[in-house]
Amino acid sequence: MRRITVVGGSLAGVHAAEALREHGFDGDVTLVSAEFSRPYDRPPLSKQVLLGEYDVAEIALRPASWYEEQGIELRLGTAATAIDAKHGKLSLADGSELEYDGLVLATGSRPRALNVTGGAPGVHVLRSVEDAVALRPGLAAGRHLVMVGGGFIGLEVAGAAAKLGLEVTVIEASMTPLSRRFGDDVGHWYRELHERNGVRVICGSTLASVDVSTGGASITLSDGRIVKGDIVVAGVGSVPAVEWLAGSGIDTGDGVVCGPDLRTSVPNIVAAGDIASWRNPIFDERMRIEHWSNAVDQGRHAAATLLGDRQDFASVPYFWTDQHDTKMRFVGRTKDATDSRVEKLDDNKLIVTYGREGVLIGAVCVGSPRDMAKYKVAIQSRAPWDEPAAAVA
Ligand code: FAD
Repeated sequence: MRRITVVGGSLAGVHAAEALREHGFDGDVTLVSAEFSRPYDRPPLSKQVLLGEYDVAEIALRPASWYEEQGIELRLGTAATAIDAKHGKLSLADGSELEYDGLVLATGSRPRALNVTGGAPGVHVLRSVEDAVALRPGLAAGRHLVMVGGGFIGLEVAGAAAKLGLEVTVIEASMTPLSRRFGDDVGHWYRELHERNGVRVICGSTLASVDVSTGGASITLSDGRIVKGDIVVAGVGSVPAVEWLAGSGIDTGDGVVCGPDLRTSVPNIVAAGDIASWRNPIFDERMRIEHWSNAVDQGRHAAATLLGDRQDFASVPYFWTDQHDTKMRFVGRTKDATDSRVEKLDDNKLIVTYGREGVLIGAVCVGSPRDMAKYKVAIQSRAPWDEPAAAVA
């Protein structure tokens, strides 16, 4: 194998390219990205960048010189449009073609559109550095931000806006924020956290219409209520960027369907990061993870697989979120949990654990990083649900 192309110039892609070199691959490495910016880190976009603590220049994943030193050719601002797997050719949006011997797919995800008749023009989303740059000037003290969606990104944006002195309203379809994934105890805790910090949280409502034509925004909810604001941001989840793979022969469904070692259904093509769905042996479950550490670890693993090191990718997913000076760390899974238990709860600390058929599978830890590390070990070793306290002692 002499020519490897990595499609997707972000977290998983950069780590895949880096790992190729670390494993001694000395052939051509090309990193193709639809974005014009040099690869950067996304988590600060909804945190330090919005708060004005980091400039966008500070969130680059690697300095420009690194790509040169590593002999990695960057093709920015050029989306891949098609794969001809039979002839080993990748088509790019600028009309050019790249011949490859191996491909790493790392095209991540993009924001889900708001489900409103006629769409919702003028509504911000937050996925890219351009999105953050477009949003930031609107976050001026005294204005009213309406955040549609009380997931992680929505709540982080709400928290940052409140800190900047905006009036903030969050509209969430579930009965409490985050409850669909973490249950009501976590949902109530986060609702109270936001309300204590001045955020208005409207739950159990979806959007009927959004009108941003008059300078301000007027949002009609499914129950007929009208919320008026100055600026609207939608954070209603994301979808894997797989549409460009149609006709390539690569199996897709909820993302790219990978084998246990992250190989796709087509030889010499692997996938990593938000886009990759694979069966995780620790949970005996097919999953697709949209978390930072998964993109790093899978990028590295997929590169090794492509070079012939065929090991299953086994991991305990990990995620963090920062809201109003609190940090939640989550390890494991909550999907199909048959049990959950509040281990600790006060205004500053929250620990909730999740079990599935007698086995500990997940833990939410707010304000207790050490507990998180212990739960991670316990989940990895498939500790029994009845004795998590012993497992983390
Ligand atoms: P992405 O980062 O989505 O990158 C994919 C890249 O591929 C993009 O540059 C895209 O433009 C490009 N691309 C797409 N299609 C094509 C194509 N056809 N051709 C070429 N290039 C293409 N995770 C956490 O664990 N904690 C956090 O606090 C956290 N905060 C976040 C805050 C924000 C605002 C966002 C958006 C995400 C956050 N995440 C967080 C999630 C984390 O950043 C993602 O899981 C991670 O970026 C996934 O990396 P990736 O490389 O798989 O995909």
